[in-house]
Amino acid sequence: MSLYRGIDAGPSGQEIICDLRSDTATCPDTAMRAAMARAEVGDDCRGEDPSVKRLEQTVAKLLGQEAATFFPTATQSNLSAVMAHCQRGDEVLVGEGYHLLADEAAGASVLADVALQPLSVGADMCVDSSEIEARIKPDDPHCPVSRLLSLENTVSGIAIPLARIRCAAEAAREHGLAIHLDGARLLNATTELGVAPAELGQLADTVTLCLSKGLGAPAGAVLAGNAYLMRSVRRARKILGGAMRQAGVLAAAGLYALENNSAGLIRDHQLAADFSSRLRALGCGHVRQATNMVHFEPPLGVHEPLRVFLSEKGILIGAQEPAMRLVFHRDVDPAAITTVIEAIEAFFEDASVLNRQPV
Ligand SMILES: *Cc1c(COP(=O)(O)O)cnc(C)c1O
Repeated sequence: MSLYRGIDAGPSGQEIICDLRSDTATCPDTAMRAAMARAEVGDDCRGEDPSVKRLEQTVAKLLGQEAATFFPTATQSNLSAVMAHCQRGDEVLVGEGYHLLADEAAGASVLADVALQPLSVGADMCVDSSEIEARIKPDDPHCPVSRLLSLENTVSGIAIPLARIRCAAEAAREHGLAIHLDGARLLNATTELGVAPAELGQLADTVTLCLSKGLGAPAGAVLAGNAYLMRSVRRARKILGGAMRQAGVLAAAGLYALENNSAGLIRDHQLAADFSSRLRALGCGHVRQATNMVHFEPPLGVHEPLRVFLSEKGILIGAQEPAMRLVFHRDVDPAAITTVIEAIEAFFEDASVLNRQPV
């Protein structure tokens, strides 16, 4: 079932108490907007936007890489990384369910002419080195050339330990593959693991960081890697229409987010943990929590009625099956947690609600 089932079902007129569908719900606050208004700008297509350059240098350093490129979205950043690493007819090995494979409309195949080889993942959402070795193609004209391993962290909120990422990367490198890391939520991973972002970032050749999720910027992502790769990355970005002009207003939001909002990610994880223990105590279904995400598996048939019931109270959640997703972020008021728990409790207590949609 698609991650986005129910995600488009937006507010129906009433006041929103909290939007838990995704951490993309975060809006720029007054201080971030002020930073955007103050931003020095120039034409970034000519490399003349000082705010964009500052953001690129900041993220490169943060992720232990030499250089970086600013993008409108992490989707375009991932695709540009694929284009920089691969030629037409090459193959990208990528974990099953990872964003690049499952949620980017197969752009790597459609626009970069590469084959996507899914790899099975373990319970920790990482790819085993044995699986990588089994899937890398031999040098045989019947096969595409295996060129790139694309990893992800966090995956579905799960922070994969450095040792696991290192092991996967080493297995691929031994066969001459390059490594991309889709770290859209990399800072959630490093916050959870208690490691410096550079320790994770430097395990890959290219790394995507998204600014518009839990960090709270309205748009933007950054791709980091070495200076040589960045030349190809910038050409890919131009081809894809992602080279912007006075993008410093957006870069300023990203810089503000990194300087002021990264430290708050731990609060989001704590909120998710507190919420999940209270939800678990209701005994209405299996609950899993990892970083800022909670996956709740109520009985079959309950998902859509529960989503509608909550949305009528101004609480928005994802209605994915089998597990509904609730994502905690900086725009969630901790006081609203009690309201959400009480609403879920009321739903399960009200038999007539369930009778409308037999369990
Ligand atoms: C959200 C996300 C993306 C895409 O981000 P956009 O900026 O919305 O394009 C890529 N990878 C992962 C892991 C994501 O969670």
